[in-house]
Order: sequence, then structure tokens, then C-alpha cells
Amino acid sequence: MNSELEQLLVLQDRQQKIRQIQTEIKTLPLERAHLESQLAATAAGFESLKHKGRQVEVERKKLELDVGTRTESIARLKTQQYQTRKNDEFQAIGHEIERYENEIRKLEDQELELMIEADKLKGEIEAADKSARATKDTISRQLTDLETKSKALATQQQERETERETLAAQIDADLLDQFERLFNSKGDAAIVAVEHGVCTGCHMKVTTATASRVKAGKEIVNCEQCGRILYLGQ
Ligand SMILES: [Zn+2]
Repeated sequence: MNSELEQLLVLQDRQQKIRQIQTEIKTLPLERAHLESQLAATAAGFESLKHKGRQVEVERKKLELDVGTRTESIARLKTQQYQTRKNDEFQAIGHEIERYENEIRKLEDQELELMIEADKLKGEIEAADKSARATKDTISRQLTDLETKSKALATQQQERETERETLAAQIDADLLDQFERLFNSKGDAAIVAVEHGVCTGCHMKVTTATASRVKAGKEIVNCEQCGRILYLGQ
């Protein structure tokens, strides 16, 4: 093969690798954002459970206070009842005491339900705490890996760039210019093989004349359809 073509193929290989590395580098912030949002969601879930736990505790305390005030009222009423000499007043106070006692029973039932709920939540909070810690560990590790990967990719890119510079310096300026324009506009390759008379860049058949010029390998030949530089494949 024409030595210029060989140089271009090596250059193209390096440039394609640089392009791959750049694509990978571009995905890193997305991966990082994804991991960070997972972390935030886990923390938010845990916080909301803890909040619920605190709410239940507040409700339970309120019920306890309500029971307390009623117990005090009953004590006060019992003193009044003891002091009265009127039978109807005695009975009226007795009804009031009964009403408060009924209320206390209802409040205590509610309190019991809340205690059961608080117990259940306690278990859930412990489990969520454990799982949040595990998730945090995993994600922290993944974020560190991502950081390492990011540095490695930057180094690789630097190395390939240097390599590319050296290769490019050995190529004729006009040819290099043509190659660069094609490489940037085509998005895949600037130099492609002709296989069985077909350009592997645009998959169109090249003319017999073009095919023979490629076969001769004495000059730079371009595909008449897509303009890519051609070399002889199979
Ligand atoms: Zn073509």
C-alpha cells in the first residue's frame, strides 16, 4: 500500500480512538448526576420515614396529655362529689366522671394503636438506615471509580493527542488538510477500503477507472460518491 495511505490509516485509528475517549468523557457527568440523584432519593426516603416516626411520637404525647387532663378532672370531680350533700348533684357529677372515663378509654385505645405503629416504624427506620448506609457506601465507591476513570481517560486522551501530533507532522500538509476535513464532516472515517468494487464508506459501487487507480496505489484516490479517500481492501 501507498505509504501515505498507511500513515493516514494509522492517523485515522488514533483520531477514532480520541473520538471514542471524548464520547466516554462526555457521559461521565451524566453518570455522576445519576448516582448523586440516587443518593439524594435514598436520603430523602430515610428522612421522610424519620419524620413520620417523629409525628407519631408527637401525636402519642398529645394523647397522653389529653388523658392527663381528664384524669385531673376526674380527681377534681370526685372531691366535689365527696363534698356534696345533694343527691341529684352527686349523680350529675357521677355521670360526668363516667363521661371522662369513657373518653380516657378511647384515648388509651388510640395511644395503643400509635404505639404499635411507632414500633413498626422503628423497625422500618432501622432497616432504611441500614440500607441507606449501604447505598451510600456503594455510591461513594462508584463515584470514586468514576473519578478514577475520568482521570484515566484524560491521560489516555493526552497520550493519543501527542501521538496524533507526531503522526500528523509526517504527513503532507494538503493531504492532512483534506483528511481532517473529511474526518470531521463524515463523522466516522475519512479513509475507507474499496471492497469488491464498493466504497465501504458510502456503500456505493465505484467506477472501474476509480477501482483500477485504487488498485495501482500510486496516488490519492477519492470516492466519486462520498469523497472519502480510498484504499484497496479485499
Ligand atoms: Zn464512497
